[in-house]
This record gives sequence, structure tokens and C-alpha cells, in this order.
Amino acid sequence: MDKVKEMLSELHSVCADPRAQLDAALARGRKAVGVLPYFCPEELVYAAGMLPFGLWGAEMQTSLSGRYYPAFTCSLLHTALEMGLRGQLAGLSAIMVPLCCDSLKCFGPNWKYGVGTVPVIDVAWAQNRKTEAGEEFTRARFRRVLGRLEEISGKTVSDGEIAEAVALYNENRAALRAFSAAAAAHPEAVSPLQRCEAMKAGYFMDRAAHTAKLRALTEALCSLPESPRRGLRIVTTGILADSPALLGILEDAGCTVADDQVAQESGFFRTDTPVTADPVVGLARRLGLAEGCSVLFDPGKERGRELVKLAKAAGADGVLWVMAKFCDPEEFDYVPVRRMLEEAGIPLLAVEYDQQTASFEQARSAIEAFAEMLRG
Ligand code: SF4
Repeated sequence: MDKVKEMLSELHSVCADPRAQLDAALARGRKAVGVLPYFCPEELVYAAGMLPFGLWGAEMQTSLSGRYYPAFTCSLLHTALEMGLRGQLAGLSAIMVPLCCDSLKCFGPNWKYGVGTVPVIDVAWAQNRKTEAGEEFTRARFRRVLGRLEEISGKTVSDGEIAEAVALYNENRAALRAFSAAAAAHPEAVSPLQRCEAMKAGYFMDRAAHTAKLRALTEALCSLPESPRRGLRIVTTGILADSPALLGILEDAGCTVADDQVAQESGFFRTDTPVTADPVVGLARRLGLAEGCSVLFDPGKERGRELVKLAKAAGADGVLWVMAKFCDPEEFDYVPVRRMLEEAGIPLLAVEYDQQTASFEQARSAIEAFAEMLRG
């Protein structure tokens, strides 16, 4: 158990100070590229010899971003821009911005105007992501992204190097899936917050180092005796569920995160990149295979069907929707997905989350009442 605690504490330290990871990479002479959510082809950054550095906002109060975004923009983008405006992301050689929601489409221009010195690489992918034409469009756009990364890194990237990066990322995804299952089986050893931090650390570390840490952690968890505790099993869904306060409330209410459909968590690791002769085709195809995220074009709401399946497979008592405040894609999904859960008889609670929230008392009352209701 001590070994598990020690490894979880190391991963906590990474999340508590991501800047230290960036500084260490820069000190070693490695360039870094900031990667905004969602589904950016990070493998191309890695193949170009640079560190992909995740930009998922941060819990902080903003003062400068309000000059560029209205108050009703999500906190993820407010705080990510704020970090850039305050110089907290100095040292990045570029940022990658996917154009997959209206607010993200404005991020690049706001960044160029406000921060200026760090170039923006727009990442576009086809809305009709499952068609042959859509895949070809995304492949061509990803090749263009690769060209920009080659200019920035000063290195020509071969297909062999991209294929190696794809394999390394797929190994990381497999390690994350194995860890997620082991953490769900051992709620006495891994709290909801520790589970989240172990996953989130990968956005700031070299993926190979993250894989090694996760494998050791999963092995240590699997060697523990069967957990004496079951608690309430919850599946989370949403964009982000990394708030220490919110996850602490879940823990206090006796809840275990049995699985998730959260963009920052399983949104990264649920779907591998297919291995293809042209590795960039595989990166484009992954976009067509992924499900369960509100930014993906999903007219039949596969997200709801996937969530029902996940909840049943995890033996979940209920689903917690961590609703990102001012996020249109999430709000559009809410009604049809809620209906699907209702039809399947799976209880759902939605709590609104904002990285600038100071008080979580309303969420505490709602989660405690939900837990009581689930216990019957
Ligand atoms: S999808 Fe939602 S949370 Fe993500 S950037 Fe767009 S509005 Fe913000």
C-alpha cells in the first residue's frame, strides 16, 4: 500500500505544478507545444521531438481574459487564455487549437491579439468524420499541421517516426485503461481525486514516462488483496471532472468513480489510433471511431448509448454529469442523453462546474442527496 501511496503522490505533484514539467523539458533543450482540447494529433508533436503540453485551463480567478472573451464563455478557455496573458506559458514554441466549438474558434485570434509571441496552429477535422471523404479531409489537414510542426521544430518527420509515436500513445492509452479498471477495483487505495490526477498527469509528462509510472502503479494495485469496500459506484460524464473540491465531495459521500465518459479522462484513452500504412490516416480514422464526447458530430447520440453501456458494464449505481458552465455542446447533449439514461433506468445527477467557482456547497448538498437516494 505504501508503494501505491508514493506513486499516487508523485502523480499528484505533477498536476500540482505542471510548469515544473515544462521547465524541465525546456532545460533539456526540448521544445514544447501547448495542446488545447480536444482530439489534437499530439502524436505529431511527439514525432517532431517536442513535448505536447496539455492546456485544459486551471482553477484560478481571471482578470485579463475578460478583455477578449465575454463572461459567458466557458472557464476552460478563460483560464487557458489568462495563463497565456499572464506569461505563465512562456517557453511554448506554439499552441495547437482545434476548431471544434464556437468558443474554441475564437481562441486563436484572441491568443494572437493578446499573447502574440507564440504561434497558433489551427487543427481542423471533418464534421462528417465517419465518411471516406471526411477521413481524407482530416488526413490532409493533419498533414498541414505536421508541416507547421516541422517548421517549428526544425526537423523533418518521417512516417516511421509518426508510426512510433502512434504506437507509444496507444501503449499509454492501454496503460490508462488498465489503471482505470484497477482503481475502480480498489477504492480503499485510490480516491476519486487520485484517479483523476494519475490520468491528468499524462498531459504534462512525456507519455513514455507516464506509461511506465502507470504500469508500475497498476501492478501494485493488482497485488493488493480484494477491496473490503464497495461504496457507491458512479460513472462520470462531461468535459472536465478534475476539481479537487468536487471529487472530495464524491469521496466524502462514499462514491467510487467506477468508469468515466469525461473528455479529459477516457476521451483520451478509450479509442486507440488504428495502425495504417500512412500513419496520418490512422490519426484521422481515430476521429471517426471515437464516441462519447459532445464536440464530436453525433446525430444519433451514440454518446447516450455508450454511457448506458458503460454504466451497466461498471455495475454503476448512478451517473454524475459534471456540466461545464457556459458549454453549448454539453448543454445540447443533456436532454437526449438524460432521456436515454431514464429509459435504461439509470439515475442521473447533473452538477454545474466552473474553474472559477469558489464555493461548492450547492454541489455538496446535491451529491449528498443523490448518494442518499441511491442507497435507498
Ligand atoms: S466544448 Fe465546451 S468546455 Fe470545451 S472549449 Fe468548447 S465551450 Fe469550452
